[in-house]
Amino acid sequence: MPEILDSFKTSGLPEYVKGSWINAHKIIDQNRVGSFPGSESKRVVISLSQGHVCHTVTISRARQLQCDEKCPKFKLHKLCAHTIAVALKCGLLYDVCRSYKHSVSSMFQSLIPPDVGKKENEKKNRKRKSQGGYRDVSSFNNRTEVVIDDALVTDSFEVVFITDTSALCCYGCKGKVRQKPSDPVPGDPYDIFLIRKEHRVFRKRGSKSTAISISKQPEYVYYHPLRSCVPGKAKIWAELSTKLKFNEKHKELLWREFGLQL
Ligand SMILES: [Zn+2]
Ligand SMILES: [Zn+2]
Repeated sequence: MPEILDSFKTSGLPEYVKGSWINAHKIIDQNRVGSFPGSESKRVVISLSQGHVCHTVTISRARQLQCDEKCPKFKLHKLCAHTIAVALKCGLLYDVCRSYKHSVSSMFQSLIPPDVGKKENEKKNRKRKSQGGYRDVSSFNNRTEVVIDDALVTDSFEVVFITDTSALCCYGCKGKVRQKPSDPVPGDPYDIFLIRKEHRVFRKRGSKSTAISISKQPEYVYYHPLRSCVPGKAKIWAELSTKLKFNEKHKELLWREFGLQL
């Protein structure tokens, strides 16, 4: 706890964000940040107070973070525990603090009336002050554009044959390829999957609750070998032993979807 407060001081963020800062560290401690199925520019954050509520944080190309409509803190301050937690997790904390401080200071700067000291104008300016303040906050919000950030794509995908895995469905489109791992797989070229390790988001089964969980350890997740199922512009590769098993249909599919030349 003292380290968290120390880091808050050095962050230079305003005092009203302190609670969110502390909660963001709890969110990280409890491993409540996960990848968003089908999008590299989003993250899912499980609410601290309500285990069944998930917030979606969007990362813009300008490395700014935006929480979703359901988040009152973000609406109010343009910063919340969820966005700070994602910033911590994705190494964007520096960017987020800097741009936040910048937007706050430019906001206040624009509020300083040019003719301070004149009594008549003071009243007028004070009135304008609050209006101007609101306008500035909303423009800060508008600047947070939503685009895929290629720079955040780190993990590559390996091409594997479904028969060599226990995969049942695609993590992108949620389409099932079989009911159980012993079932036969689809015909070629759709008997291959892309695989990588991720922190998986899932609903706890069996329990009455609708709680959403994120796997503690990164787990293997599978995707159809289709551009529309795979998040971002990740690298695709295959082991030599797998490549040797590809037929023309596999090669054609991987070339068509990902430009992979085999
Ligand atoms: Zn939020
Ligand atoms: Zn799919």
